[in-house]
Amino acid sequence: MSGLELLDSREVMLGSTPVARLLPKRQHRTVGPWCFADHFGPVDVGVGAMAVGPHPHIGLQTVTWLFAGEVVHTDSLGSEQVIRPGQLNLMSAGRGIAHAEQSPAASVGLMHGLQLWVAQPDATRWSDPAFEHHAELPVVDLSGAAVTVLVGSLAGETSAARTDWPMVGLDLVVGTSVEVPLEPSFEHAVLVMSGAPSIDGTTVSVGTTAYLAPGSTSARIDGSARVVVIGGEPFEAPIAMSWNFVARTRDELDDAHRDWAGVIAHGGSQRFGDVRSELGVVPAPGYPTGG
Ligand code: MN
Repeated sequence: MSGLELLDSREVMLGSTPVARLLPKRQHRTVGPWCFADHFGPVDVGVGAMAVGPHPHIGLQTVTWLFAGEVVHTDSLGSEQVIRPGQLNLMSAGRGIAHAEQSPAASVGLMHGLQLWVAQPDATRWSDPAFEHHAELPVVDLSGAAVTVLVGSLAGETSAARTDWPMVGLDLVVGTSVEVPLEPSFEHAVLVMSGAPSIDGTTVSVGTTAYLAPGSTSARIDGSARVVVIGGEPFEAPIAMSWNFVARTRDELDDAHRDWAGVIAHGGSQRFGDVRSELGVVPAPGYPTGG
């Protein structure tokens, strides 16, 4: 019996750029620890340049993964990092961090990528913030697909990226067809980035996500396509999410909102630090900024 379930997406505006929000879904707030997925582009940077000013996060890791284009990341740890296709930016917010992301000034051509969030478990979600850039990642040649291991392991190859919870993230360039081995204790989601492949016999187009319940030992993907597979052990607890914050309770979210409103009102913050950016600081939408 197939455990495959199709999830639709919705279009949201990031500034003037439409993106497809694939996660969260009401019926699947998390897939393993993965709690958020935005698919942006492909879009010409002339009309859809990324320009997200300093904004905060708590309790999550951001995973930025590009198929085309470049993005400059700056954060309150002092990191400044250009990310290109095939490279991974992994930022762990812990108790609090702020960052900005924008297209380089001289960008031309297409931008296409994924912004993913991973909920941090209780063991690490109050820890110090951290940032990792991985310029080199393992690539596994499965018969029928080249697979980059973003996080976790596949076929004996393990990414050096930090994991706070048992999880996996894979980018597959599928030629004609491939059988992808899966960890049966994990739940998974297959995010279609281009093409319209058949996944375990069901056609899945861009903007639609295939959810695979725990128990699957493999997924069969037929048809030329680019897909990202994310998964992990079902998460330890229901999460509470508001704007850029992931927590467990309303009180924790209110604290984070209050702390960021203080930054908007007065500048400077012990919790979130300062980000060097020419872009304006982003207030939480609809949230009072009296601080
Ligand atoms: Mn962010």
